[in-house]
Amino acid sequence: MENNEEHNPYLGHISQKARKWISKAYLKAVSELPCSIPGCGHSDTVVAHHIKGNEYPDAMRYHGKIKPPDDMVLPLCFDHHHELHDILGYRKWEEKYGHQWDYVRYTQLNLALLLVKLQKNT
Ligand SMILES: [Zn+2]
Ligand SMILES: [Zn+2]
Repeated sequence: MENNEEHNPYLGHISQKARKWISKAYLKAVSELPCSIPGCGHSDTVVAHHIKGNEYPDAMRYHGKIKPPDDMVLPLCFDHHHELHDILGYRKWEEKYGHQWDYVRYTQLNLALLLVKLQKNT
């Protein structure tokens, strides 16, 4: 089923090559959410950040060399993303803001609730 992506452009698929879930649609949906950091409120420069760090079992499988699967992302504005990668590093960033994994979970829950809300409104 290598051509899954072509047949279902809006859904994710398991990449045979990379052996992980890949979904451009999910990354796009996450990047349209506001930044995860409480009180930040930025929604214009948001990217879907792939969880980083060897503490995370799924990220560890990839030894930090390859990005984790696309479900393991959280929305971050340019500033908070830059701070994580280039200024603090993920460990200090987590000491300051909390665990990335919690934000990944909140992201998934937020998207699920948004979907329920959208369905109720149609
Ligand atoms: Zn990132
Ligand atoms: Zn932010």
